[in-house]
Amino acid sequence: MTDDVVRDRVRAAVRVEGVVQGVGFRPFVYSLATSLGLSGLVGNDVDGVFAEVEGSGEAVAKFLVRLEHEAPPLARIEAVTTRAIGVTGTVGFVIVPSVPGGQRRTLVSADSATCADCLRELTDPADRRYQYPFINCTNCGPRFTIVRDVPYDRPLTTMSGFTMCARCAAEYRDPADRRFHAQPVCCPDCGPRLSLVDAAGAPVPGADPIAAAAELLRSGRVLAVKGLGGYHLVVDAGHAAASAALRARKHREDKPFAVLVADLEAARQLCEVDDVAAQSLASARRPIVLLPRLPAADRLIAGAVAPGNRHLGLMLPYTPVHHLLLAATARPLVATSGNVSDEPIAFRDADALDRLAGIADAFLLHDRGIHIRTDDSVVRTFGGRESVLRRSRGYVPEPIRLGRPVPRPILACGAELKNTFCLAKAEYAVVSHHIGDLENAETLRSFTDGIAHFRRLFDIEPRLVAHDLHPDYLSTKYAVDLANGDLAGDDLADVELVGVQHHHAHVASCLADNEADGPVIGVAFDGTGYGADGTIWGGEFLIADLISFERAGCLEPVSMPGGAAAIRQPWRMAAAYLAVCYPDGPPAGLAVRGRNEQYWTAVTAMAARGINAPLTSSAGRLFDAVAALVGVRDVINYEGQAAIELEQLADVHERGSYPVTVTSQAPPGTGGTELRVAGSDLVQAAAEDLAAGVPAAVIAARFHNGVAGAIVTVCGRLREQTGLTVVALSGGVFQNLLLTSQVVARLTDQGFGVLVHSRVPCNDGGISLGQAAVAGARDRLARGIY
Ligand SMILES: [Zn+2]
Ligand SMILES: [Zn+2]
Repeated sequence: MTDDVVRDRVRAAVRVEGVVQGVGFRPFVYSLATSLGLSGLVGNDVDGVFAEVEGSGEAVAKFLVRLEHEAPPLARIEAVTTRAIGVTGTVGFVIVPSVPGGQRRTLVSADSATCADCLRELTDPADRRYQYPFINCTNCGPRFTIVRDVPYDRPLTTMSGFTMCARCAAEYRDPADRRFHAQPVCCPDCGPRLSLVDAAGAPVPGADPIAAAAELLRSGRVLAVKGLGGYHLVVDAGHAAASAALRARKHREDKPFAVLVADLEAARQLCEVDDVAAQSLASARRPIVLLPRLPAADRLIAGAVAPGNRHLGLMLPYTPVHHLLLAATARPLVATSGNVSDEPIAFRDADALDRLAGIADAFLLHDRGIHIRTDDSVVRTFGGRESVLRRSRGYVPEPIRLGRPVPRPILACGAELKNTFCLAKAEYAVVSHHIGDLENAETLRSFTDGIAHFRRLFDIEPRLVAHDLHPDYLSTKYAVDLANGDLAGDDLADVELVGVQHHHAHVASCLADNEADGPVIGVAFDGTGYGADGTIWGGEFLIADLISFERAGCLEPVSMPGGAAAIRQPWRMAAAYLAVCYPDGPPAGLAVRGRNEQYWTAVTAMAARGINAPLTSSAGRLFDAVAALVGVRDVINYEGQAAIELEQLADVHERGSYPVTVTSQAPPGTGGTELRVAGSDLVQAAAEDLAAGVPAAVIAARFHNGVAGAIVTVCGRLREQTGLTVVALSGGVFQNLLLTSQVVARLTDQGFGVLVHSRVPCNDGGISLGQAAVAGARDRLARGIY
């Protein structure tokens, strides 16, 4: 060794923060360092991974570059800090024991689809895990769904009952092995097993549960399959009778089913798959991706799978069981959540056998427990980005980085429908998995248990509790009980409540999603939200930042005859709107009236007198009114159905549009002016087109174009008033792709910057993040940190 080389020798202390534990980071550092001839050490502590590397300056520099670029697939590096320290002359590289203690940071990663290396072993007859349905490694497999507590170690997961065999234990201990410290590592000798039982719980004869299950699927039976976060109900997607039977037994009249396909090639036979969609489909997160269906899908997929829908939700296999089942059946499979109608997805074995007995002909079970119910995530692509519509398995509990840190820890309780909650601390927010609609005891328990679980997992003791203003939301009641110390066994004391208006939370969620602060022109269009004036809002234009908002405009309120009944029966909204358009009675011969003649007069009178007919500015109800008017449907079976079907009906080539009047009003008690959008103009124009014999598909398109035009007009007026040039779009109505693409294109044309959702849903699933962002911003303001 020459003096030059010795002098060139350096030692660097490196710290890596982020999701870097339980994801194979130490073995990665070990093999990277040894391949570059570096000596030193690597270990875990409460802040993440620490390492010291020593060698030539060039090798250390290479190490630092490759550390970030070649990190293991499940790692999420947030920060790497390096400093030079004294050369010690040590030889060899070692993994040192973990340093315990202190405050916990993110230790648990999201569940991850079977990796390419494991798949190779799964299909290699010479491998000892050949066709083993629970194969996994440091780079893939169950995580969040099996973790009972932290630290993330096997005894605190649902793998605790399985003792590693000698060969698995050797892999687990070997830093050079892909299964080094992979907590769920197992094999056919020591790990979980599959079994197939009939609807009564009796074992189905046959040596191989996968082969027997595949045989049942091919013969048109309904199978309940225990997966990662719960049970799926599975049928052959090409089998008309099986799909229809599943729909009938599940009491799910119209909501589309997702389809599991073997690979991207199989997906491309059914749908248009662009590059962004392909990336989402094949990502380790493996969400359901909503894709435009190809005509060929009509031949390959039964009509009952996604009736009347231009899109199909496709998903690639994410567990070895899915891979084996798809290989054995060699056809697309329906994989929908294992529940009846709107109940939460079943995830405990006894409960699944009980609740799904009337639906499934057989159960493909296994003996690895699911600790936390986690639905499949749902995404689509928009503007070259993935846009999440339901954020759950594969995404949760990965933290969302906030634009600015929050001074004190926050719990945000979310909304009532599509509930999620959110815990925020410093610069991170952890948004929970999709909890569902907080309307039955089971979901409410998922909500309260989930909050307790996340608080433990992430070691967050909330000081602020954010909630919706709606006094009857169960999430609001929970927040109030928590603050009053009325929750049995809960140790939280002296938390501060922060009420956040629903549509302000939507706009704040969109800001947080984009790491922006505002102020912006916020357009929050959804079904229902409790307004600051106690009325039902839902077609709102807000001038908002993270701290506060001002209602600058809205849809002109109309009555909802029968209250909640008007949500379930869109024809009532048609009646209410027509009564506004035609005070002396609507034109003769309207089919919607004919279909509902029996109650029409009573409902119209209810609307006129305002008895049991609260006023609403809801955009969702306007879509409902037009959907019923043109004959899409009078009664819905799931939330938003009429609007979804109206979008599907619309002729996308139609360029015509209905004009809308926008007026400036000074509502009493507000001390200011608000722009009012006459939604009734759209209904009247639609009714006149209908009477003139214009096809419903054209009317649907002109209506969409009219709504887009109204939004752009109002944003233009607000830009003149305020000088603001950025618009944030949020609320469940913007799940409507036709509307959203129109609005974004036209606003962009007019020089606006447009923020849309990507990381969290624009629907109420994103509310909890918005609430947390508002609570954090107000706390910063109160402390003078802004
Ligand atoms: Zn793997
Ligand atoms: Zn083993």
